[in-house]
Amino acid sequence: VSADRTVRRRDALRARLRGEDLDAFLVTNETNVTYLTGFSGDSTALFVGRGGRDLMVSDGRYADQIAQECPGLEAFIRPIEQTLPAALGATAAGLGARRIGIEADSLTVATARILTEAVGPAELVALEGRVEALRAVKDAGEVAAIRRAIDIAERAFAAVLEGLTPDQSEADVADALEAALRRCGARAASFPPIVAVGARAALPHARPELEARLADAPFVLIDWGAATRPLPYKSDLTRVVATGNVTSEFERVYGIVLEAQARAIAAVRPGATAESVDLAARSVIEEAGFGPYFTHGLGHGIGLDIHEAPRLRRGVEDALAPGMVVTIEPGIYRPSWGGLRVEDDVLVTPDGCEVLTGVPKALDRPPSLA
Ligand code: ZN
Ligand code: ZN
Repeated sequence: VSADRTVRRRDALRARLRGEDLDAFLVTNETNVTYLTGFSGDSTALFVGRGGRDLMVSDGRYADQIAQECPGLEAFIRPIEQTLPAALGATAAGLGARRIGIEADSLTVATARILTEAVGPAELVALEGRVEALRAVKDAGEVAAIRRAIDIAERAFAAVLEGLTPDQSEADVADALEAALRRCGARAASFPPIVAVGARAALPHARPELEARLADAPFVLIDWGAATRPLPYKSDLTRVVATGNVTSEFERVYGIVLEAQARAIAAVRPGATAESVDLAARSVIEEAGFGPYFTHGLGHGIGLDIHEAPRLRRGVEDALAPGMVVTIEPGIYRPSWGGLRVEDDVLVTPDGCEVLTGVPKALDRPPSLA
C-alpha cells in the first residue's frame, strides 16, 4: 500500500468520526491497523488524532518494519518492561484528550480498565464497526489483490483436482490444497480448507478427517481460498466435486442451489440491500421446500479478513456499493445425505456486479476419478 493511500484512509476515518466529537480514536483491531497504516505486523495499535496527528504504539521488534512500511507515520516504541496496554494508557494520557474513541469489538475489558485509570477524567467512547465500514468498499489496489487471491486459489484447485484418487482422505486433500496454494504464490490458505465427503458435507464447517475417504461417497465438498502476500487479501470459494455416480435427486438439489445462486448474483447491484440479495437466493430454496435446510446467511464481504462487512443476511438493511466484494454461497444441508454449497466471489460495480471466480460448476468427475 502506498503511504498516500493510507493517509487518505485515515482522513476518511477522521471525516466519518467528526460527529462523535473525539480528540482521538484508538484502533486496536490489528487488521484495522494494517488497513490504516500498511503495517503488516501485529501487537501494534494506532491513535488517529482529530487534528491529523496519528501515532502508532508498538515494540522494539517492529521499529525498523514500521519505518519501512509506514513512512511518515509517527511511532512510539514502548520499552521492554512496559506492556502494550500500559503504553496505550500512558500515550492516551499524554494526548490530553477529553474524549477518546475505542473499538468496542476488539479492546479487552482489561485494557479498558487500564486506559480508564490512565486518562483520569477523560471519557472513553465505545464505537463499533467504524473502520470496518470503510474497509467494506475496496479501492483499485485491493480489488487487484483479491483478483490475485482468486487466481491463486483457482490454479491450486485445478492442480489438486488432477491428482485426486479414491483412497485419499479428506485430510490428504486439504493438505494437498494447502501445499498447492503456497506453490501457486499464496502466503497461506485464507482459512483451513474444508473438505467433506458425502454426508459429512451436511456440516457447513466440517473439519477434514483422516478416516473419511473420497471412495466413501459419490461427491466431496471443498471450501477453500488463498491469502496474498505481502498483505493477506483473501479469496473464498466452494465447489462440489462428483467423485462417483451421484443420484438424480442429488443433481436436482444441486440445480436448486445453482438457481438460487444465479438469482442472488442477478440481484447484486449498488443500492440493493444486503438482505434483499439473501432473500433472492433464499426464496428459490424455500419455494423448492428446502428452506429449513439453508441454515446460514447468503454471504459475506472478503478482504484482509475472510469474513468482513457487509454481511448478506436477513435483517441487514445496509445498501451495497460499488467496490464491495462479497461471497454468494447458498447451501442446502440434509443430515441424511449430505450438504451442497456453491460459493463465488462477486465485485459490486457501478451498474451491477462482476463475478470474479470462474471455476466450472458442472458435476463432471475429474479425469483421475473417471
Ligand atoms: Zn468459503
Ligand atoms: Zn464464505
